[in-house]
Parts: sequence; C-alpha cells; structure tokens
Amino acid sequence: MDFSQTLIEKNDAIIDRWVEAVYQDQQIEATQELTFKAVRDSLPRVLNALATVLSESAKSDLQTVVDASLEHGRIRAEQGFEPAEIAREYRLLRFVIFSLLEEDLIQASPVEMLRAVRLIDTVIDEAIARCFSSYTYGRLEEVKQLQNQLRLTNQELTRLVRASKDSLSHLAHELKTPLTSIIGYADLFLRQHRQQQPEIKDSHQNLESIERVLKSGRLILHLINDTLEISRYDAGTMRLQPTLSNVRGLINSVVEIVEPLARAKELALIVNCESAPDQVITDPLRFQQILTNLLSNAIRYTESGSVTLDCWQVSQQQWVISVTDTGIGIPLDAQTEIFQPYFRAVTEQKDLGSDGTGLGLAIVSRLVQLMQGEIKVVSQPGEGSTFTVLLPLEAIAHENNQVNGRK
Ligand code: ADP
Repeated sequence: MDFSQTLIEKNDAIIDRWVEAVYQDQQIEATQELTFKAVRDSLPRVLNALATVLSESAKSDLQTVVDASLEHGRIRAEQGFEPAEIAREYRLLRFVIFSLLEEDLIQASPVEMLRAVRLIDTVIDEAIARCFSSYTYGRLEEVKQLQNQLRLTNQELTRLVRASKDSLSHLAHELKTPLTSIIGYADLFLRQHRQQQPEIKDSHQNLESIERVLKSGRLILHLINDTLEISRYDAGTMRLQPTLSNVRGLINSVVEIVEPLARAKELALIVNCESAPDQVITDPLRFQQILTNLLSNAIRYTESGSVTLDCWQVSQQQWVISVTDTGIGIPLDAQTEIFQPYFRAVTEQKDLGSDGTGLGLAIVSRLVQLMQGEIKVVSQPGEGSTFTVLLPLEAIAHENNQVNGRK
C-alpha cells in the first residue's frame, strides 16, 4: 500500500487540522500573535518530505526532511517559539497524521502497517531533531548579538559610573540577579555543549537554558537602557529634536506596536483621535516613547475590560493625550511616588509582571517636563487609572538643565 500517496492527497487536510490544533493548544502561546500563514510556514515542505521518504522508491531520502525541518526551526526561532512549544507542535503533527491515516492503516497488512508507522515515527523524530538544531543556531546568534549590545551599553554605563550618580547603587543591586542567571546558564549551556558527542542532539534542557539566558539578557538591557535615560536627563544632557509631526501617524505607529499585547489579554484597545490636532511640533521619538510607556503600563496592569487613548486640542497652545484603563488602579498614597525611579506600587508578583523595571513613569515624567508639559494621574484602586499628558503644540529644543533651572 502506498501511504505516501495518501499523505499527499490528505496534505491540505493535515495542515488545516494541525494549524487549528496548534492554535487551540493553550500551552503554545507563541501563536497568539501569528497569522494562519505564519503558523503554516514550511509545514507543507516537511509533509512532502515525509511522503517522499514513505514512498518505496525513495527509502533512504532523509535529506529532504532534514532541509525542510532546518527551515522550520529557523522560522520558529524568529517567531519566538519556546523549545517546549516546538516539541508540542510536532507531537500534534504526529497525532493529526495518524488520526487522518488511521482508516488506511487499518486496511493494510500488519507488515505494511508496522513499516509505515515506524517510518513516520522515525521521520518525525528526525524532523524534530533537525528543527531543534537550527532553532538552537538561531538562538545562539541572538545570544551573540545580545552580548555585543551588552558590551556597548556596559561601556556607556562605565562612563556614567565615573560621573557617578545616586541611582547607580540601586542599579547594581537590580542587575545582580539577572546577571548571575545569565552567567550561570550560559556557563551550563557551554559546558554541556562541549561535553556532547556530535551525534547527541540538543536536549530540551539545553534549549531552555538558552531561553533563560536570553530572557535575563533582555531584562538587563531594558534596565540599563532605562537607567541611562534617567542619568542622561539628570546629567542635563538630554535634548529634544522637535520637528513638524503628524499626530495620527505617530499615534497609529505606537498603537500598532502595543495592539498584540492588548489582544493577548483580550482587552479592547480604543482610540479616539477625532479632535486631535493634525500636526504639532514635537520630538517624534520622545513622544512615541511617552505614549508607548503609558499604553503598555495600562495593558500590563489591566486584566479585563479596556484601554482607551483619547487625544484632543485644548487651546491655541496646547494639546492633550490621555490613557484610561479599567485595571487594578493605584492607591492614593502611591500616586505621587510612581513617578520616582524604581518605585513599584504593586506587591503581588502576578501584578508586577516580568518585564517591569519601575523606571517607565520616571522617564515619562522627565520627558514631559523636557517638553514643558504636565502629567497627571487620576486613579481608583480596583477600578482603573487615567494618565493625562498636557503638551505644547510647539515644543522647543533646549537642554533639560535649562528646564530644571540648573547651571
Ligand atoms: P513598571 O516598570 O513597574 O511598570 P513604571 O515606572 O512604568 O514601572 O510604573 C511604576 C509603578 O506605577 C508600577 O510598578 C505600578 O505599580 C504603577 N502603575 C503604573 N501604571 C499603572 C497603571 N496603568 N495601572 C496601575 N498601576 C500602574
């Protein structure tokens, strides 16, 4: 019996059912932000390769599976899949293939059936191994890039340490945990990699170590970059670069970035910009930084309901953006503190999230001040918060030591 032919005939049905199963699987979170086409990616190639191997005439042609799976692993690395998620999607693939071939398998002789089952299993195992190896390669490349970035930011940090500023001891403390984890896991990974025989494939554990290295590395970078922003401001060297900017264009590009975060938590993201000025003179990057921080906070601290962005012109000189959420809210006594560096009002780990640094609002308030604007918060614990930013229609580029009245 030619199962390769059956596999080719059922190709579309297998892919549709498999993509559906991957989407439905609660433990594969990486797909939440991906389209059907992106999840499908190189799967047709993997299946065709499988069919080729199953056909009697091309018994030993594993190379096509190897190539297709390498491609699959590279794409999954780019899409941010965790190793466990890849293992799961292959498990689902195995399940879907067998359930769709079941009828044909039952009709075959026991010998034919055993041969087909064994071959399918072998090929899928090979596909997983190859997929992991290109996935590992992709992740290692990212680790290298991260290392370079860390080296550069470290140079800038060293320069700042020489100029010494108050928040640095806190930063050193905050850096210790993720840094220890990076060093520990990177070490472990490299040691295991060195000890491995060439034929032993990268294990799950190895891949999880790389994931932890990357996660901690990204957190450190985030923390260092945020601290550098604060230090630049406090050193009086931050300068705006105002240009004539299209308000809706700026807002839309930020909304596009945070939209997947809101969708992942099933929050409605509402944008009301009908009364916004068409154009303002502002520093577009700094404005987007303010808005990104406010919107991502609103999403981070809201479990259900909505996040609303309003924008309107208040007078001939000023305009306003406000971000309202239906989230956890902020206790009254913390409402003035939240603009201080490293202050975090929530104490429960689940509310803190893993990517907060306690520096976002400190940066936002400094940027708003630099733009000669004002920021206010109104919040009710358990009901939600509104952050309102009042800005001049024409921002002026002076250094922030002049704004602060410093010499
Ligand atoms: P973080 O990285 O912790 O979010 P921020 O400086 O952006 O740092 O915010 C400081 C603190 O203010 C947060 O830890 C949180 O307690 C509180 N906070 C900020 N935005 C909101 C919000 N929209 N809803 C509830 N709490 C918020």
